Amino acid sequence: PAPDLIFQCNSRVLMLLGQLERLNREAMLADAEIGRQITAKILHLIQTQGEKSTKHILGYTMTIYLLEPFWKGQWENNSLQCVCVPGGGRRVGVFVSKGGTGILLQLVLSGSKESPPSEELMLQLHSLLAKVGPKDRKFGVKARLNGALNVTVNLLKQNLQNHKLLLPCLQVLRVYSSNSVNAVSLGKNGVLELMFKIIGPYSKKNTSLLKVSLDTLGALLKSKTNARRAVDRAHVPVLLYIYQDWHRNDTRHRHMLIRKGVLGCLKNITNIKLGRKAFIDADGMRILYNTSTECLPVRTLDPLINTSSLIMRKCFPKNRLPLPTIKSVFHHQLPHVPAGGPVAQLYNQPLGVDDVVDESDDNDDVETENDTENEEEDKDHHARNDDIETDINKLRPKETHSRPFEELKIYERFFLELSEDFQSGVTATPAAPKSQRPIIVPTAQALPPKYPTAAPLQEECHLAKGEQPHPEASPLAPAPTPAPVHTLDTINITKDHDGCCDHSQVRPQQPPLLAGGVAAQQGGGAEETLAEEWAEEEEGGEGAVLEVPDTALLLPLHDPDLYVEMVKSTRSVPQYSEVAYPDYFGHVAPTFREHILERVYGVQRTKIFQDIERLIHPNDILDKVVYDLDIQSCPVIDDGESLKFNSQFESGNLRKAIQARKFEYDLVLNSDINSNHYHQWFYFEVSGMRVGAPYRFNIINCEKSNSQFNYGMQVLMYSVQEAISGRPRWVRTGTDICYYKNHFSRSSIAAGGQKGKSYYTMTFSMTFNHKDDVCYFAYHYPYTYSTLKMHLQKLEALRTPQIYMRQDILCETLGGNSCPLLTITAMPESTSNDQICQFRNRPLVFLSSRVHPGETNASWVMKGTLEFLMGSSPLAHSLREAYIFKIVPMLNPDGVVNGNHRCSLSGEDLNRQWQSPSPELHPTIYHTKSLLQYLAAIQRAPLVFCDYHGHSRKKNVFMYGCSLKETVWQTNISATSCELHEDLGYRTLPKILSQMAPAFSMASCSFVVERSKEATARVVVWREIGVQRSYTMESTLCGCDQGKYKGLQIGTRELEEMGAQFCVALLRLKRLTSPLELRNHAHLLDVESDLIETRCKVSSLLEDEPQMIDLLNRNTHTHTHWLAVN
Ligand SMILES: [Zn+2]
Repeated sequence: PAPDLIFQCNSRVLMLLGQLERLNREAMLADAEIGRQITAKILHLIQTQGEKSTKHILGYTMTIYLLEPFWKGQWENNSLQCVCVPGGGRRVGVFVSKGGTGILLQLVLSGSKESPPSEELMLQLHSLLAKVGPKDRKFGVKARLNGALNVTVNLLKQNLQNHKLLLPCLQVLRVYSSNSVNAVSLGKNGVLELMFKIIGPYSKKNTSLLKVSLDTLGALLKSKTNARRAVDRAHVPVLLYIYQDWHRNDTRHRHMLIRKGVLGCLKNITNIKLGRKAFIDADGMRILYNTSTECLPVRTLDPLINTSSLIMRKCFPKNRLPLPTIKSVFHHQLPHVPAGGPVAQLYNQPLGVDDVVDESDDNDDVETENDTENEEEDKDHHARNDDIETDINKLRPKETHSRPFEELKIYERFFLELSEDFQSGVTATPAAPKSQRPIIVPTAQALPPKYPTAAPLQEECHLAKGEQPHPEASPLAPAPTPAPVHTLDTINITKDHDGCCDHSQVRPQQPPLLAGGVAAQQGGGAEETLAEEWAEEEEGGEGAVLEVPDTALLLPLHDPDLYVEMVKSTRSVPQYSEVAYPDYFGHVAPTFREHILERVYGVQRTKIFQDIERLIHPNDILDKVVYDLDIQSCPVIDDGESLKFNSQFESGNLRKAIQARKFEYDLVLNSDINSNHYHQWFYFEVSGMRVGAPYRFNIINCEKSNSQFNYGMQVLMYSVQEAISGRPRWVRTGTDICYYKNHFSRSSIAAGGQKGKSYYTMTFSMTFNHKDDVCYFAYHYPYTYSTLKMHLQKLEALRTPQIYMRQDILCETLGGNSCPLLTITAMPESTSNDQICQFRNRPLVFLSSRVHPGETNASWVMKGTLEFLMGSSPLAHSLREAYIFKIVPMLNPDGVVNGNHRCSLSGEDLNRQWQSPSPELHPTIYHTKSLLQYLAAIQRAPLVFCDYHGHSRKKNVFMYGCSLKETVWQTNISATSCELHEDLGYRTLPKILSQMAPAFSMASCSFVVERSKEATARVVVWREIGVQRSYTMESTLCGCDQGKYKGLQIGTRELEEMGAQFCVALLRLKRLTSPLELRNHAHLLDVESDLIETRCKVSSLLEDEPQMIDLLNRNTHTHTHWLAVN
């Protein structure tokens, strides 16, 4: 019909409806005849000329009117037909919104009072309710209040054989049951038993009845009371039997939904501890494991496998970690232990606290088949909204400084450039105290048994007390006594003599090929002789002379000898004396691209099944401890059957390695020192591998609830064989990587009062390419404290007369390491007053990094910044002329040295101490803050403050800043907000960065001040020091999903580039903030479009991560405050 015809029709219908409504309102419906006439007219109109959709929409709207007289006992057949117009979606929505549900329920009740109730009427009503119920969020409550529950239940009980009536009643019951109060009351009324009467072994009859009953049962079992009832009445074995029966007989997989329904019931029952026990007792693990294995080849059965796997994981008996205690294996005595602080709490825990295993039902309502990540992100987002600071007073800058200027005056010495004798101190490097320990290079612990213990290490390897190394002395002359350590097939380190280039060679003194026969020449070999021997060996093929490339050319800031020098003054709690090869050789970023890994379907499931097999076939498990720091003189098992592990070097943190199967190892990380958690970072060494064997590594005590390892991030590996073949580098490696909740947990007491927590497994597989290799694995590109010291020395060497660079020691750390402070700017061009004046009045830029030891990427960004600042480019020169840079490149040296992930030796997150840092417990923070307070006191607060961090759960590089206005917008604290005036300058720098740095993403930036971040550097410097441009810059650990690097994992090259671009951006900021050009940067401050961008980002978080998780077990608690980004 033409549009106007429809309109006509509608208007007539509407008019008639209006009449009906009036009748209703004026309570004239006693005269049902009129109502019936009107409805008949409407019906006629719709049936004759109504366009389809109109008809349906109106059809349902009308039912209310039509049903009214019917409800009053004046029912006619044809009105109900009208009601039964099939429908769904919007039409039902309209019906519900007009109160249709209530009327239907009342009809059920009044109909039930007839004796016997009209079967036809009940059938029709229940069919309707089944359709309407799921659309009405309050259906369950309405039904209960109307007393309809019992009507339906009684109807069911009396008509168990009447399948025609049974089906709609069950459908309605299913909806009733989704309300938890209803579920309990239905359970009391025997509905569980009723369902068990309907469901049963395989039968081709009445499958739809079966399906609905199973769904209903599943819904009822969500109630713990019902689940307990089901366990008490021994229904768990029954369900398992039914499942097996269908599994056996449904060979063509026509009834997947029924099978899934049975599993759904089991899934809910096993949410309670009793249910899990009943499941185990009924051999549920084996049954589900076997059936799932049989389902594996059929892809359409995935939902069954996934649900089975979920149930099995839940029922897998919880266990404590295989450790004597979860407290860190190393302890550092603090100068004083504040009562009530984390360390006091930790060491006051009752004995045996680690033996308590958390059996709580923290697996409730895990709907994890897919999409879990999205839900989690949603949660995070909600949590973040709760976290926004709403106290305007806390958002406003704090005017007064708590410390008197007299006290701050001592910091003047760190700002010589602002004083008369600016040139003092720029030449001398602070001498670091030398260690009294011998330093061992390399670290490989033992030789394969078939090789005789050979090469003594060169002199650096066992510097005795007080001995000074002679850089120019021939390292080839072997030391008089063999070192007490064994080495990887005897690598020796040599150095050229001609002095022009400082290039290192690493040669296998005894290549594997020759190992059996020729004993290595040890004592007294002159350099030439050895070189000749090596030359011969080189022709011998495999394993012959190998040279490390001239890394000095590729890595201008790296020098192995200098590195060892630096290690000597680095103090670690475990007193490490070994040096890891990668830190020694250096890392030359590969030139090839490393793509974000595409996740293979079903990886997680496969891994979980392998874990479950351990329970089912316990005899296959070796359970052999091959590395254990908890045992004094950690044993090295060397029977050729196991890998050898080591992590006793700077930043290493493997605590224990257990060989589970021939090629599978469970690894346990150490907690941060003086704490019992915070593990995520890892760095360890592996040797004794077999070429081509499929190794699987499981790090079993990860803590974060999700990880970029589920989204394409790979671990990093460094092969020494590759390095000595000329490829000294970390590469992204590992396949079948995934991250999932495992069956290890700790008690809530051990967790410091929080609910007990499950641990997570990060698993990866790999095959090794080289025999007799020593490989290193790390969470991210390592960057040790000794590396920093080496880099700083090399940077000093880059100083030219035009560069003003000074290194100070800001303070000592708790562990006795010094915290360097750098000053970089340009020397004044002359000593003229103008020049000196310009020099002293340059605005300050204050940078810091690596407060979180596990965020090594922050150090690589800092390296890029420092290298750029010391560079000879015109840009670098302009930048130095524009600013005075104050840089604390490593705020937490102790954490870095000791392999911590998050904390300092005080067992605390230093980036939560900025509000009131303690000079004893948080010296680096205390003194860094003092520097800033001093600057504020002399009216020289920095133009920019930025603290570099790494982010484990997001991609790209981005910034967090502080904006009062944007915070207020987010919280909708109405009234005052529109009155706020705020300079938008805080957006300029990130905006510039997003335009020039490919890894940087403006859309990921946020300028909201959160409550949980009130003690972070960014917020405190903004609020207390009054720095408007106060930032945290977060770099991804994984990779980018936008820009030039989209789809690639991040590498040191990109991180260093980011650090350099940060500098260039500062230069542009300078131009934009100079008064002359202030007007020209309006385009940069297009806040509105940025905000829209940001908002879009929030809503598209769902697409941020590809949906490749199969079965990730969502952690339902947003615990672990340290999950937070900085
Ligand atoms: Zn951080």
